[in-house]
Amino acid sequence: MSEPVTIILVFLGVMVVTTVVFAVWLVATVIKLVSRGIAALVRPGGGGRSLLRPEYECPRQSCRQTNPSSAKFCRRCGKELLRSELMVQDRNREMRRAAAWL
Ligand SMILES: [Zn+2]
Repeated sequence: MSEPVTIILVFLGVMVVTTVVFAVWLVATVIKLVSRGIAALVRPGGGGRSLLRPEYECPRQSCRQTNPSSAKFCRRCGKELLRSELMVQDRNREMRRAAAWL
């Protein structure tokens, strides 16, 4: 009569192991999502690539000073770095990156 008890114990053991593994996976996923959410809040508009985002060039032809992506005005000439112009630079860089992969 010991066989059903063994089967139940094995079944319970598998259940416990599965639950522990699932719990660990769940916690890891939640931590990953939360840290990604915090990173997105700290650097908005990055879409996950924010950490790799390089510096921006000043749109003024005679300047071309590189400024950090967080800068609102050029460090050298003081020209306002318009988001739309920076987006164009971003898109061009992405297209260049895509072309490099081909
Ligand atoms: Zn400038």
